[in-house]
Amino acid sequence: MEYRQTKQKQAIYDVIRGKDKYMSAYDVYAKVKDVYPNIALKTVYRNLNLLCEQKLIAKIIDEGQTYFDGNPEPHYHLHCTKCNRYYDVDLPYNHELDEMVSKRYNAKITGHQLIFEGICSKCLEGE
Ligand SMILES: [Zn+2]
Ligand SMILES: [Zn+2]
Repeated sequence: MEYRQTKQKQAIYDVIRGKDKYMSAYDVYAKVKDVYPNIALKTVYRNLNLLCEQKLIAKIIDEGQTYFDGNPEPHYHLHCTKCNRYYDVDLPYNHELDEMVSKRYNAKITGHQLIFEGICSKCLEGE
């Protein structure tokens, strides 16, 4: 039982880990189902949340939707409005912004998100 659970969690992690991944729990579920046809969506949810707690992946809320990111380091994203893909943006994360807001609002800031909107190079080439 324990062994199977670990294997499922590993399979989920393998789907989501890495750069330029930005998936909903359902996206992950659909992929993991190839390997584990009987896996339940709630199992995928539970493991994704577990992986977040272990800081192996990150959770991102965008327009009320929850996504999971295979790159746990704080970073920015480029969202292509044409193909709807998200790319990791290789810009230094601005920790000063967190400190500024923390001081100004006497708040504990855990991070900020920045999403650039536009059309990715792949889509531009295809035009
Ligand atoms: Zn695109
Ligand atoms: Zn990312």
